[in-house]
Amino acid sequence: MKQNILVTQSSMPSYEEYCEEIKSIWETKWLTNNGEKHNELQKSLADFLEVKNLTLFSNGHLALYNAIKSLNLSGEVITTPYTFASTTHAIVQNGLTPVFCDINSDDFTINSDKIEELITDKTVAIVAVHVYGIPCDVDKIEKIAKKHNLKVIYDAAHAFGVKYKNKAIGSFGDISMFSFHATKVFNTIEGGCLTYSNNKLIKKLDQMKNFGIVDAEHVAEIGMNCKMNEFQAAMGLCNLRHIDDEISKRKKVFERYVENLKDIKGIKFLNISKDIKPNYAYFPVVFMDEYSYSRDNIMWELAKEGIFARKYFYPITSEFECYDYLDKGNIPIAKDISNRVLTLPMYADLPLETVDKICDIIKKFE
Ligand SMILES: *Cc1c(COP(=O)(O)O)cnc(C)c1O
Repeated sequence: MKQNILVTQSSMPSYEEYCEEIKSIWETKWLTNNGEKHNELQKSLADFLEVKNLTLFSNGHLALYNAIKSLNLSGEVITTPYTFASTTHAIVQNGLTPVFCDINSDDFTINSDKIEELITDKTVAIVAVHVYGIPCDVDKIEKIAKKHNLKVIYDAAHAFGVKYKNKAIGSFGDISMFSFHATKVFNTIEGGCLTYSNNKLIKKLDQMKNFGIVDAEHVAEIGMNCKMNEFQAAMGLCNLRHIDDEISKRKKVFERYVENLKDIKGIKFLNISKDIKPNYAYFPVVFMDEYSYSRDNIMWELAKEGIFARKYFYPITSEFECYDYLDKGNIPIAKDISNRVLTLPMYADLPLETVDKICDIIKKFE
């Protein structure tokens, strides 16, 4: 039977390694609420990501929601529509109004030259996304935020282990969120974290993820339940041991795609600048007019061969029916890219021969 190739495949440790890691849970009978595994992972990740403070959450979305909530904001937030549903939902779920800013046509991150013209007296924050693991223009965003007294929150869901100008990506802005969902470069099955330098947030976030409980008789926040459990943390401890290998295998896949596709007319893919230490999270390709087939047609040609690429990100979040009531903003580049982009299969164990096969199909319709 021909095996289907999906856009991603979760990285897992060996069955034996995971069993060994979870063994002690049967001795402690401690399944969640700041368990040993949770605390060890929290510390190891802070070291690995080179950040001052790190708080684990049960998933990336609840981490992002709580990041925004912890800053006590009300008003407008400038953000990108070229992202996963979570980013815009987390803003709206906090009672804030997203104001959509266009993106760059080369790296698909928020266009920092378009941010200032969207600032009003209601603007309180910028929520930007290091989409596909490519850092936003963090220097310019910091300058704008300082000048206008805005908070900056980064959705770094894709950017695990990325560095910009030798600085860890999680150290920019007020707070950054990483997702450890099964499909991400590093996973804890479901999971996520926040990274930040303000020490005052440590206790606050710990409370917010556990119903706002301070101690047995005090509740300070109308908090939620978004604690990472011991089985998730154990998966994280195992996966973290193999992360360097994981990323170097992804690099080989990425380079094979580039080698195969670089001379095809009408195709655009990520050009990673020297300032970036990448994690090779995704391989998005943009099909321009000079290419003979449309994005949807080439997606269909791949599907016929059992290769399932995905339209990340289409539709852009501003076009979701649930956001019909919102101002759509002036976002022609985001719309155009979203109509042309196809994210090709990308994971550590993707065979290079499969990359060649995918590229041969794309070449056939040049
Ligand atoms: C995956 C993802 C999230 C949400 O993370 P979960 O861990 O799945 O809740 C948020 N933003 C972006 C850009 C993502 O890709």
